[in-house]
Amino acid sequence: MQFIDLAAQQKRIRDRIEANIAALLDHGRYIMGPEIKSLEEKLAQYVGVKHAVSCASGTDALLLALMAYDIGPGDAILTTPFTFIATGEVISLLGAVPVFVDIDPQTFNLDPAKLEQAIDAIAEEAAGDHPLPRSDVSLAARGIIAVDLFGLPADYGRINSIARHHDLFVLEDAAQSFGAEHNGTMAGSLADIGCTSFFPAKPLGCYGDGGMCFTNDENLAEAMDSLRLHGKGIHKYDNVRTGINGRMDTLQAAILLVKFEIFPEEIELRQQVAQRYTRLLNQPAEVQTPAVPVEMKSAWAQYSVLAKDGAHRSKLQDRLKAADIPTAIYYPKPLHLQTAFKFLGYKEGDFPVSEDLCSRIFSLPMHPYLSRADQERIATVLSSR
Ligand SMILES: *Cc1c(COP(=O)(O)O)cnc(C)c1O
Repeated sequence: MQFIDLAAQQKRIRDRIEANIAALLDHGRYIMGPEIKSLEEKLAQYVGVKHAVSCASGTDALLLALMAYDIGPGDAILTTPFTFIATGEVISLLGAVPVFVDIDPQTFNLDPAKLEQAIDAIAEEAAGDHPLPRSDVSLAARGIIAVDLFGLPADYGRINSIARHHDLFVLEDAAQSFGAEHNGTMAGSLADIGCTSFFPAKPLGCYGDGGMCFTNDENLAEAMDSLRLHGKGIHKYDNVRTGINGRMDTLQAAILLVKFEIFPEEIELRQQVAQRYTRLLNQPAEVQTPAVPVEMKSAWAQYSVLAKDGAHRSKLQDRLKAADIPTAIYYPKPLHLQTAFKFLGYKEGDFPVSEDLCSRIFSLPMHPYLSRADQERIATVLSSR
């Protein structure tokens, strides 16, 4: 059994992918070729925004978005510690400081109530109600990066309204949530800029690295377009700002154009797989299954369950492994306890909800082509004693 079965998907579309690659080899425009614009137009329409800016990875998408806001030293960016390292890494890479905010134990996403406390703590330079990072300079809150963890959108209704009240921007880290919805509005369009990833294991994945930024703001789109191309101005050798080499490969766009054709269907298949898991795993319940608020639709990048504690998790993972069923832990360590962020001076106990989840969460095989028989076997093995 595969954790994510990319081969089953490829079998459906292999001939069309080969045709698109052949067309690319014929025209030979490997850098910023015509497939790039075509993909950007299609995905902007799908997400429901005016502008899509493709780039080299999901990490670059987040980096370009922060650079478009001119983020640097002295700036504080509020974000969750329960995410992939890239979310926090881009902040410190620019010399800004990540201010972590704990998550909601039901959705695993940024907790809006704690967000408000964190913003107040930064303004007062006092970690009264909220643990703050160490910093040589005094910090000013500039923006928020909310993450749609495992494919479930964060609570942008409340996050955006808190942000507006404090004059902050909001980035949506939609690396795992492309195809998800909040009240019918697509993930990627739920904040000022949405950033997604096309890493192979993401809901819409390419065959290498790729990413995209989505926004309705023309100025931000223009800045990100320039930044991904070495800060280009009116042409390639007119450079108006310090940028990066952050383009998406035309080859990846050619592959994504094919994969996107079957993507809406795959999102529906993911709903069926997730619903079946939830049904199967709750009779009797050995683990806690994920909760999806009624107004949300998850892209189900992962189906993650909670064991009672670390020992219980190990026992269940061992049991599944013995039956040849792969599992994974996203994430074993929250960002505030990562060595890379040691300089921020956070300590154990600062964000108890994230720490607790890291100690007992694990993910089951999840992809659109997971069979009912495999899911039944997973449930049986999980509940066998
Ligand atoms: C995968 C991921 C990223 C980074 O995407 P890459 O394409 O691998 O650079 C950022 N944030 C989250 C939450 C992710 O899951």
